[in-house]
Amino acid sequence: MTKKILVYAECRDGRLRRVAFEALAAARLLAGEDGEVHAVLAGAGPAEAEALAARGADVVHAADDPALAVYTPEVYAAALSAAFCSLKPQALLLGHTAAGRELAPRLAAAFGAGHIADVTAVQAAHDGGEAVFTRPLYAGKAYERRRFAPGVPWVVTIRPNNMPPASPSEKQGTVQALAFEVPPLYTSVRSIVRRTSGQIDLAEADIVVSGGRGVRSAAGFEPLQQLAEALGGAVGASRAACDAGYCDYALQIGQTGKTVTPQLYIACGISGAIQHLAGMSGSRTIVAINKDPDAPIFGVADYGIVGDLFEVVPLLTSEFRKQRP
Ligand code: FAD
Repeated sequence: MTKKILVYAECRDGRLRRVAFEALAAARLLAGEDGEVHAVLAGAGPAEAEALAARGADVVHAADDPALAVYTPEVYAAALSAAFCSLKPQALLLGHTAAGRELAPRLAAAFGAGHIADVTAVQAAHDGGEAVFTRPLYAGKAYERRRFAPGVPWVVTIRPNNMPPASPSEKQGTVQALAFEVPPLYTSVRSIVRRTSGQIDLAEADIVVSGGRGVRSAAGFEPLQQLAEALGGAVGASRAACDAGYCDYALQIGQTGKTVTPQLYIACGISGAIQHLAGMSGSRTIVAINKDPDAPIFGVADYGIVGDLFEVVPLLTSEFRKQRP
């Protein structure tokens, strides 16, 4: 039987998120060359459907209903359930985003499926073995490799920024309408408050410049903002900086905040508490700027600068600005 893998192609403001393409690449790996990759697109336009079809989705199931204009778990779960029930795929992959984390367990329960969350690597089945999913444990201090028990479908969430996104494919997939019934709503969205307007999505940013208590005030974040802008990155923060009111909690990185895995993480005035490391230690390259040479952050940093961030950060910004074309 042909192996089918279904992907939830998550959008924000009608545009596909990068994690949708990362999940698509993981789906192709699991499906193999002979298998089928299906994507569910909800409430987005034809350009997004075509983009999925051009990057490895064999069939894009586009759900279009006014109820999808604003995300509500009941409606989005209903659209995904409709696709799942008609296709009966081996697996459903979602991004490990706020929406993905909300939808995945409820869909897994509804389908009687196994669920592995926050996956950072996927190894396809080979030599008669089963596919293996890697996920972090103990705030990133260890990794476990899991497989599903035979005979059940799989629901998997993929941590953003950990796998290469799907690249353009030679074969163009097809797009078809997905019919589903809008269920009764138990929640209603009254308003959407955007706290990080204009900023690149922190969870998907390639470069993050993060500030801690050492930044000392809301105004102290300004040089970090400038450095982030010079690098095309996003600003993040430690919980201490958020607690002190220097910035919004939407920027908090760590155990009780967001998990980020950028190519470059620049920690400014952050000591490196274990709860902060839980949200950023998977970053490809870590640079720490701290005036305390014994700060624990230097233990995980690839490059350390012992110094006052208010001197070092503007110097870095002016150097990076010079590099701009
Ligand atoms: P501090 O530990 O106070 O460090 C400030 C650093 O700035 C120091 O190292 C200092 O040397 C340096 N510094 C000061 N001035 C300058 C300067 N001018 N130039 C350069 N360096 C300077 N924390 C998180 O971040 N995220 C979480 O999600 C999180 N979740 C938590 C969950 C629980 C259950 C608990 C108990 C704690 C959690 N914490 C979290 C808090 C965490 O334990 C630390 O208290 C917090 O990370 C410390 O933040 P910080 O490094 O900014 O502040």
